[in-house]
Amino acid sequence: MFDLKYHKKYFAGSRVELCTKVQQSVGEKRYRHILGVEKAAIELAGKNAVDVEKASIAALVHDYAKERSAEEFKKVIDRKHLDPDLLKWNNFIWHGVVGAEIIEDELKISDPEILNAVRRHTVGSVKMTQLDKVIYVADFVEEGRVFPDVDFARTIAFKNLDQAVAFETKHTLQYLLSANKTIYPTAIETYNRWVVAVN
Ligand code: GDP
Ligand code: FE
Ligand code: FE
Repeated sequence: MFDLKYHKKYFAGSRVELCTKVQQSVGEKRYRHILGVEKAAIELAGKNAVDVEKASIAALVHDYAKERSAEEFKKVIDRKHLDPDLLKWNNFIWHGVVGAEIIEDELKISDPEILNAVRRHTVGSVKMTQLDKVIYVADFVEEGRVFPDVDFARTIAFKNLDQAVAFETKHTLQYLLSANKTIYPTAIETYNRWVVAVN
């Protein structure tokens, strides 16, 4: 893969150094997913006037904390005085929202736009920047993903980023409902903002 030159503004090292840290934090399969998300995010950033370096960094770290234990996440929630309601949830929400804190502490990445893109990558948000949308959508359509509608999702992603956010939000919610899973309230807010308002 090409190597993007970092300006050391958001991360104090090269892209390859960041990749090495990420690789050490997750398993092989997840690392491949992460590289796929980065590739998609860079392409989407180019099309949507988003800073390509920020897109690369946010994509590389978006699942950095995914394999941490529940104990570690709970400790971080306490130590950082995050909303105690988070304690009632689990890995699916922690790895983004609490993961952003772990990324800041361990990788010394403090850019709020990058950290917010990580926080919002799983359930989205009412307010989403173009960078947030790029990471949210890239996570859904990266080349390693396989699900029946993935080709359609990719086509929309590269045509219209807002429509891709809407498609992904609705698709995820439909899956969660069909599987009788708990819906995180923010996911419903994302639906109301991006699915109802766009279509
Ligand atoms: P990944 O980290 O690359 O696997 O992808 P995501 O961060 O987008 O999603 C992580 C997991 O959270 C997936 O299995 C989603 O189906 C799940 N998920 C997303 N939103 C919700 C929700 O509102 N409720 C529940 N229970 N799970 C969710
Ligand atoms: Fe994730
Ligand atoms: Fe991911």
